[in-house]
Amino acid sequence: MIKIRCSSLPSVSDCCRMAVANSQRDIITEAGFSLSERRTGIYSLIGTAVHKGNEKILREKILTGILPQYQFSLDSAMSEFSDKLKDSEDIIFDDTTVNQSHAEKQIKTLTAAYYRDIAPKIKFPDGCNPDDHLEVSLTATIDGCEVTGHPDVISESSILDTKSGKTIRPYHAQLGMYANILMSMRNWKPKFLITNYLPRVMVDKPYPGTKTDGYDVDFSMNESWYLTKQLIRDIKNFQQCGNPAVFTANPNTSLCNPKYCTAYGTKFCKYHIV
Ligand code: SF4
Repeated sequence: MIKIRCSSLPSVSDCCRMAVANSQRDIITEAGFSLSERRTGIYSLIGTAVHKGNEKILREKILTGILPQYQFSLDSAMSEFSDKLKDSEDIIFDDTTVNQSHAEKQIKTLTAAYYRDIAPKIKFPDGCNPDDHLEVSLTATIDGCEVTGHPDVISESSILDTKSGKTIRPYHAQLGMYANILMSMRNWKPKFLITNYLPRVMVDKPYPGTKTDGYDVDFSMNESWYLTKQLIRDIKNFQQCGNPAVFTANPNTSLCNPKYCTAYGTKFCKYHIV
């Protein structure tokens, strides 16, 4: 069965071929193509750790009505980071996070920013179950394919997702599909779709501040719906014809490099083969 993660959708409108290479590896290799191995970027481990710290304090807030001490968030994030480091054999550091010590300092900065700027403002319904609001597993079947997602937070009125990359990108498709699935699962439509952006900056640079963006709900739901249907059509088409050209490629994207794209330099995408 074709499985699509909502988090892969923003990349589809950037370079669909890259999005498919990075998220549908089995389907592509079954068609006879090889892809490069995906290495773990340090940005991914930092994001996972910060998410864990945020989730833990919000869980406490739902259960007790108040935020726990900041140290609880930091300890949870550092513990998650340490566990994930042990599980990851080959980490790629980058210009913004050059080593483990810098990663730990950045986790400290980002969890503190979330604790200070975001967590106090999120409202949940009285007496709710944290499992219905944090890291909820969303699943829908669309055209015979399984579409899944895990929004960070479903608050009283909104869906919120935290991003902690070097740059912020448009996430309408991801959040819009969360909203579509929630409509079908709970018959509930959010009033707001929100990204909380915690910029990851070099440790010797001042923290530029947390940025919150809201997306038009109807627009995002509509965009994500047709983008997903198009992606499913393309994947099914590829399963029939085996031609990578069914997936639109964008060699102009800033992500067109071997660090982000497992199709780079392979026969699945020959833009960089001479
Ligand atoms: S190599 Fe570039 S154009 Fe080809 S799939 Fe990857 S990102 Fe897209």
